[in-house]
Amino acid sequence: MKIDVLTLFPEMFAPVTSSILGRAAEKNIINIRLTDIRDFSNDKHNKADDYPFGGGGGMVMMADPIFGALESVDAYNKKIIYMSPRGRIMDQQKISELSELDELVILCGHYEGVDQRVLDYWNIEEVSIGDYVLTGGELPAMVLIDSVARLLPDVLGNADSALDESIYSGLLEHPQYTKPRRYRGLDVPEVLVSGNHKLINLWKFREALLLTKERRPDMFEEYVKNPERFSKEEAEIVEEISKIKP
Ligand code: SAM
Repeated sequence: MKIDVLTLFPEMFAPVTSSILGRAAEKNIINIRLTDIRDFSNDKHNKADDYPFGGGGGMVMMADPIFGALESVDAYNKKIIYMSPRGRIMDQQKISELSELDELVILCGHYEGVDQRVLDYWNIEEVSIGDYVLTGGELPAMVLIDSVARLLPDVLGNADSALDESIYSGLLEHPQYTKPRRYRGLDVPEVLVSGNHKLINLWKFREALLLTKERRPDMFEEYVKNPERFSKEEAEIVEEISKIKP
């Protein structure tokens, strides 16, 4: 997957070039190209922002340098996303959809955001990472890139691990344990070291259901809507947990 990021601060993107994403880039699974919007400024000081028409505090990123940056990455006919607190809040479903694309262009705002004509002309979708405001779109873009990249084939070591995870499976994930079996008087649940995979899977299912019911009742209700998906044992667990009062 090829991702073009247009930003005023390309140096902020070091985190997505190391660890798992760094290896994905080495394997050519993901190719992140950073474009400095300032390089397309016509101003002798490389200015890329100006005062807003109509007044108000802060500065607005000018259309022309962004148009130049978009043209330079040949953004015509590509999916373009603008990281913005005004956008629809992204979720795993959105991330899944984006991970199907071969090419994606991400525009990062700064200051008060970008001139609206950029968004209108290029038919750009605004996407938010949550109901809070950051100083720039760089961290949100990295959140998007990281969550998309880990769904690409061969990025994660274990091909199944993304499927089991919280949210993706429709439930929050069950608790995880590793060695040692006893730590400061706290034991790993016996069933996990029993070697009985059927019981282990039912335990994981039960714990995931319990956690989801407690922390995300909305997700729990959605998940238990289709009883035909459950085995007999799972259906019994669902029934038991459904009866627990909040
Ligand atoms: N004036 C804008 C508004 O009220 O909608 C906020 C601008 S914000 C200070 C600067 C930039 O940070 C935005 O253009 C956007 O790119 C990015 N940003 C801030 N919060 C964000 C969020 N929750 N999700 C995605 N991007 C965000």
